[in-house]
Amino acid sequence: MDFSLTEEHIMIRDAARDFAQTELLPGVIERDNTQTFPKELVRKMGDLGFMGIMVDPKYGGSGMDAISYVLIMEELSKIDASASVMVSVNNSLVCYGLEAFGTEEQKQKYLTKVATGEQIGAFCLSEPEAGSDATSQKTTAIDKGDHYVINGTKNWITNGGRADVYLVIAQTDKEKGHKGINAFIVEKGTPGFDIGPKEDKLGIRGSDTHTLQFNDVKVPKENRIGEDGFGFKFAMKTLSGGRIGIASQALGIAAGAYELALKYSKERKAFGTEICNHQAIAFKLADMHTEIEAARMLVMKAAWDKDQGNNYDMSSAMAKLYASKVAMEQTVEAVQIHGGNGFVKEYHVERLMRDAKITQIYEGTSEIQKIVISRGVIRD
Ligand SMILES: Cc1cc2nc3c(=O)[nH]c(=O)nc-3n(C[C@H](O)[C@H](O)[C@H](O)COP(=O)(O)OP(=O)(O)OC[C@H]3O[C@@H](n4cnc5c(N)ncnc54)[C@H](O)[C@@H]3O)c2cc1C
Repeated sequence: MDFSLTEEHIMIRDAARDFAQTELLPGVIERDNTQTFPKELVRKMGDLGFMGIMVDPKYGGSGMDAISYVLIMEELSKIDASASVMVSVNNSLVCYGLEAFGTEEQKQKYLTKVATGEQIGAFCLSEPEAGSDATSQKTTAIDKGDHYVINGTKNWITNGGRADVYLVIAQTDKEKGHKGINAFIVEKGTPGFDIGPKEDKLGIRGSDTHTLQFNDVKVPKENRIGEDGFGFKFAMKTLSGGRIGIASQALGIAAGAYELALKYSKERKAFGTEICNHQAIAFKLADMHTEIEAARMLVMKAAWDKDQGNNYDMSSAMAKLYASKVAMEQTVEAVQIHGGNGFVKEYHVERLMRDAKITQIYEGTSEIQKIVISRGVIRD
């Protein structure tokens, strides 16, 4: 067993760290205030290969492994979790979904563009009445011979307003339950496909979250992904890898807050000494360091499982469950260590605390991760 990173991994991590410090940090508070994320920054992440990290270079990707992916995600998330969720959705859900299950034509037409960041992808599973219970899809896709007609509403869609390529899950045959669900590629601008207003969120405010409407949207048959009835399996397989991305996002948020708290505690004085010399603060730092390192081990194990070709359903669920809990708890501690300064935007930790919460909700809530893990534990 070897816990050390390779030289290549260290280079990749440092490149992501450098990008986060020089490009993401300067405008992060402003983007959180205005709920915006400039196209220019997405293009720069594409130029660095961050939008198609694990995709085969023959489809425009960087050809890196899952360990590289989580290292990049952690570094981006330390500074800007809004940037990292765009990266995570594009990589884990859209690029992976197309590369693993798409036809050669779909890969050439769509993957080559989303893997380079020339275009952006969105993954559309959730609905007003189908969140955790994703089998209750109300969006329908009716088979009309050479095309499908999609009707329905998707909500909470990350990259919803800015994407070019949307992977949309819909019910094609209600009688067949989850085996009657399919996934489709829908292009922005297809008649009948409308993008609703942006959500005003607690955290990851720079990211773009929208409700989408489908009114008689015609999608050619060649845009269905996989065999008829593969859609639910497609969503579950894709989300399993997505959880590695969100787990590393949670890890980055926690680690970013910890680094700020540690630095602050060595500078701020109270009762004649730096506050890190008060045992109550020192013990908080010890707990933070320990729990973040434990989360990192789970995240790395899940990524390693993926790289080895092992089943990673359990390890990704455990990594997400634990890392998101650590992110929530330790960002609260980071605010506490900052005292009053923790409560204002300038010191960044309040934003990280707000950003942490979403990691316990999307791509399967913590309760859903426990269902996945408990089923695995009982089955094995
Ligand atoms: C900012 C943001 C971005 C998102 N991005 C996307 C995206 O890009 N694509 C997409 O498809 N979706 C996206 N989502 C949706 C997200 O995945 C869902 O919100 C999430 O899966 C929970 O679904 P829900 O909101 O309907 O909650 P519900 O399913 O209604 O759950 C409510 C509560 O009940 C609990 N619960 C539900 N069922 C059970 C059970 N069986 N046992 C125990 N507890 C249970 C849940 O854990 C939760 O605490 C996003 C959401 C947000 C907020």
